[in-house]
Amino acid sequence: MRYSIKIIKILGIPIELHITFILLLAFVVFTSLILGNIGITIYIIMIFTLVLFHEISHSVVAMHYGVKISKIVLLPIGGLASMSEIPRDAKKEFFIAIAGPALNFAAAFLSLILIIAMGMYSRIFPIFSFEITDPADLLLIFFKLNLILGFFNLFVPAIPMDGGRVFRSLLSLKFGFKRATVVSTELAKVIAIFMALFGIFLPNIWLIVIAFFVYIGATQEGEFASISSILSGLKVKDIMSTEYITVPSGITLAEFFDIEFKHRHLGYPVMENDKIVGVISFSDLSKVPKEKWDEIRVRDIMSSNVITIDAEEDAIKALIKMSKFKIGRLIVFDGSEATGIISKTDLIRAIELKRLQI
Ligand code: ZN
Repeated sequence: MRYSIKIIKILGIPIELHITFILLLAFVVFTSLILGNIGITIYIIMIFTLVLFHEISHSVVAMHYGVKISKIVLLPIGGLASMSEIPRDAKKEFFIAIAGPALNFAAAFLSLILIIAMGMYSRIFPIFSFEITDPADLLLIFFKLNLILGFFNLFVPAIPMDGGRVFRSLLSLKFGFKRATVVSTELAKVIAIFMALFGIFLPNIWLIVIAFFVYIGATQEGEFASISSILSGLKVKDIMSTEYITVPSGITLAEFFDIEFKHRHLGYPVMENDKIVGVISFSDLSKVPKEKWDEIRVRDIMSSNVITIDAEEDAIKALIKMSKFKIGRLIVFDGSEATGIISKTDLIRAIELKRLQI
């Protein structure tokens, strides 16, 4: 996710604040100062600290299973841990998903013991009161927020929320990953619609925004699962094009256009001294005004960040990498040698051909 600022690293994971979150925080602090009431600032900071530890808890279990966490981003609607992949193994998905709410319930339980020990049990009620009149109220709020976070995340069975992942993992034990995903993503979409209606009825903008993200997340999860099951068993080397056209880095854009016009590929590896030094695509060319095509050379506008993939990798990994870097093709390497190129078009063609077979 772009537009976020890294603030700290915890357990080797970069923690970032999204710009919209910073704006929310600034707004809350500003309102607090105007109203002369610091309560709301304390309240928001506590919520997001809990959200952060909730995400760290997911991440620790995920890392235990070998999943890489590239970062945790805090957004106004909650936290997001970017995982390299969500394991398709029911047990792993279950424990990763449950780790977040489990931390909240454990914290709620410990604070409840403290509340009882301090003789403040009756002050828990009314349960939805979040007033801060003295410092002891912070403990009560800490207890309630943990309870709410735990319940909301675990007991709404809408993927990609934690409850939805737990639901899918349990379902996949009986019906297999593919069917479990179809059922849980369809259910998540229905829940998202009800959540949005409920949000409009209350009205609660936060609930509406979450419903929107749940709907999008469930749709993507469903599509990704169907594509990865279609591509399963296929390797990059099975799909890649071995006959690809390269262009020398020193030619002008006008010369490149002639090559482009002749071969009509969307992207080409750029060569210099027999080595791939970049990639140039039709969209790079189209950004330069035509009058300048005779002066500017390929090396001036090519993207020199060459993203590669190993020929032996699973084909689905190529798709994940392309969407991660927002690019349309990867250079395929077999050991230290470039042996081909794999593009989104190659993947789409493979998916369509496999669909015909099924
Ligand atoms: Zn969670």
